[in-house]
Amino acid sequence: MAARLSPWHVVLAALGVTCCVGALAFFSIAQIRHDAWEEARVEGRNLVGLLSREVGRTLHSFDLSLRAAAENASLPGLAEVPLEIRQAAVFERAATSAGPGAILILDEAGNIALDSRSEPPRIANFSDWEAFRVHGDGLVDGLFVGVPTPAQLRGGWILPMSRAIRAADGRFQGVVLGGIDLAVLLEAFAGIQLGANGSSTLHRRDGATMLRMPFDPRDIGRNVAGGRAFQRFLETESGEFSAQSALDGAERLYIFSQVSGLPLIVNVARGTSDLARGWHQRAWLPAAALGAVLVALSFATWLLVRELRRRERVEAALSESEAKFRLLAENSYDMVTRIGSDGVRRYVSPASVRLLGRRPEELVGKRPQEIVHPADLEILSAAVVPLRRGEVDEATIAYRVLRSDDRWVWLESTVKVVFDPVSGARDGLVAITRDTTERKAVEERLTRLASMDGLTGIANRRAFDEALLHEWHHAARTGYPVSLLMIDVDRFKALNDSQGHLKGDECLRAIAEALGGSACRRGDLAARYGGEEFVLLLPDADAAGAAAVAERVRAAVEGLRIPHPEGGLGGVVTVSVGAATTWPSAALPPAVADLAGAADGCLYEAKLAGRNRVVGTVLGDAPPAARDPAARAPRPVAIRQAVPAGE
Ligand code: GH3
Ligand code: MG
Ligand code: MG
Repeated sequence: MAARLSPWHVVLAALGVTCCVGALAFFSIAQIRHDAWEEARVEGRNLVGLLSREVGRTLHSFDLSLRAAAENASLPGLAEVPLEIRQAAVFERAATSAGPGAILILDEAGNIALDSRSEPPRIANFSDWEAFRVHGDGLVDGLFVGVPTPAQLRGGWILPMSRAIRAADGRFQGVVLGGIDLAVLLEAFAGIQLGANGSSTLHRRDGATMLRMPFDPRDIGRNVAGGRAFQRFLETESGEFSAQSALDGAERLYIFSQVSGLPLIVNVARGTSDLARGWHQRAWLPAAALGAVLVALSFATWLLVRELRRRERVEAALSESEAKFRLLAENSYDMVTRIGSDGVRRYVSPASVRLLGRRPEELVGKRPQEIVHPADLEILSAAVVPLRRGEVDEATIAYRVLRSDDRWVWLESTVKVVFDPVSGARDGLVAITRDTTERKAVEERLTRLASMDGLTGIANRRAFDEALLHEWHHAARTGYPVSLLMIDVDRFKALNDSQGHLKGDECLRAIAEALGGSACRRGDLAARYGGEEFVLLLPDADAAGAAAVAERVRAAVEGLRIPHPEGGLGGVVTVSVGAATTWPSAALPPAVADLAGAADGCLYEAKLAGRNRVVGTVLGDAPPAARDPAARAPRPVAIRQAVPAGE
C-alpha cells in the first residue's frame, strides 16, 4: 500500500531540503571566505617577501660601506698618516654608498675622528648615542640599526646604522656611524595598497618601531615588545596569524618575515574587517539566492501543508458522512446505487435483494443497462445522457428490470448527479430506486375501471366518446368511413316492471355480451351508452357493413331468447338498432355529434316502425376512393387499443 502523504512528511522533506541547501550554501560561502583569506595570505606573503628583500638589500648595501670604513679605520699606523690621506683611505668605499648623510668615524670616547663630509671633522661627541653605547658596552657585535631620527639639516628621517671598530686584537677603537634616508624604505612600503585598515611595519627585534604605513611620525621609536602580536613575530622566521593590534586595537591578519641577516621584522597586516567586506561582497549573491530559495520553499511548504490539512479535514468529514450514508443506505427500504463516471455501479445497498433478488456484490462493478428491458433502454439513456452532459442535475426514470427469478419488475429511479467535494467536478450518479410493479398494476386497473361500465363490464360512455373521437380523426386523415350503431332494448321498462331491476340488469349484461360477440373486428368497440342503450363503434365499416353488423346484433339478442312479459315480439327480449355511416373530413361537416344524432334518429325510426329491426343511414357523400374499396390502401392495424374486457 502506498504511504499517505501527511503534513509531517512535507515538513520533514522541507526541513531536509532546507538542511541540504543550507549546508551547500554554508560550504560555498565558507569556501568563498576561505578563498578570500587564502588570497590575502598569498598576497601578504609575496608583499612581505618583497619588502624584506628590499629592506635587506638597501641596508646590506649601506652596511658594505660601513664595514669597509670600519676595516679601513682599524688599519694599524693609520693615525700617523696625514688627515687627508687618512680620510681618503677610510672612506674609499663610502663615496659610492647610498647613504645620504656623512659617515662618521668616532674614537673610543665618542668624538668624531673622521667625517666623510668634512675635513677637518666637525666637533661633536656621540658618547651618549645608543649607536655608540651598544658598541662601547659590547652589547652588539656586528651591525647595529638605530631608531630613525629626524635629519636636522635636510628634514625627513635618517635610519642610523653603526658598527664597532676593533683592532686586530679585538680592542674597541671606536664606532663607524652612518644613516640611510628613511624615505627610500618609506617609498617601498608606501607602494603597496592594504585597504582602509591595513598596515605595514618594520620593527626591530627588540620591539622598536622603525616605520609604519600609514605613516605617522609618532609611531617611530614606539616599542611594541609587550604586544601579543609582536611576541609572535619573534617565534618563527616567518608566518601569519590573526590578532589585535597593540597600536590601535584593530583585529588584523598579520603576515611577517625576519629580514635576512638583520635584526629586523617586516610585517604586513590586513584589517579583518576589510577582508570580510571583500568576501561578503562575493558571498551576498549566493546568500541572497539561498534566502530566496528558503523563503520560496517555506512558502511552498506552508501552502502544501495548508492544502494537506484542508484535505485531511475534508476526508475526515467525508468518511464521517460516508458512514452516515452507509447507515442510511444499508437500512433504506429503497435501493441506493452509486454509479461512477464510467457508468459502472460502485455501490449497491442491500435492498437489491428485495427488489431484484440479487445481492449487492452481484451488481457492483457492472452496468445497470445489462438487466434493463430492451424496450426501456432508450428511455434510460434519454434520461441519463443529459445528466452526464450536465444539462440537468436530477431525473426520474421508470423502466423494467429483470429479476433473478426471470420476472420483469417495474422500477422507478430518482437519479442525481454527484459532485466531488474536493474538486467540485461531476463524479457519477446516485440513484434511489423503488419497485413500482404493484403501483403500475393499480394504475392500469384504475385506468381500466375509469373506462369500463360497472354493470356490464364493457366500455362506458366516456371510453366510447374518446374512441369515437380518435377513430373520427383517424378516418378523417385516411379517408376511411366510420359507422355507429345505436342499440336500444325494446320495451325494457315493462321487463323491469314485471321482473324487477335485478332481472333487468341480468338482461343488460347478457345483451352486452352478445354485443361484444358481434363486434368481431379489431377496432370495433361495444359500449353502454346509458340506461338500456348501447353503441357499437365500427371503424372502417361502410353502410352495408354496418347494416350487416346491426342485423347480426339484432339477431344475436333475439337469439338469447330472454323472456319478455309483453310477448309482443315473440315473447323474447329484442333490440332496435339505428345505424349511421359517414366519411369524416377534418375540414368539413358532418361533425362527431351529427353521426350519433343520425344513428339515434334511425333508432327512433326503428322503434316507430315496430321495434326489433335495423334502420340505417349514410351521412354526406362518400369520397371517390371509397366507391372503389379495392383501390384503397389496406387499413393499418393497432391504431387504437381496444379497452380490454373487465377482469
Ligand atoms: P322502448 O325503448 O321500446 O320505447 O320502450 P322502453 O320501455 O325501453 O322505454 P324507455 O327507454 O323509456 O325505458 C327505459 C327503461 O330502462 C327505464 C328504466 O327503468 C330502465 N333502465 C334504465 N337503466 C336501467 C338499468 O341499469 N337496469 C335496469 N334493470 N333497468 C334500467
Ligand atoms: Mg331507452
Ligand atoms: Mg328501450
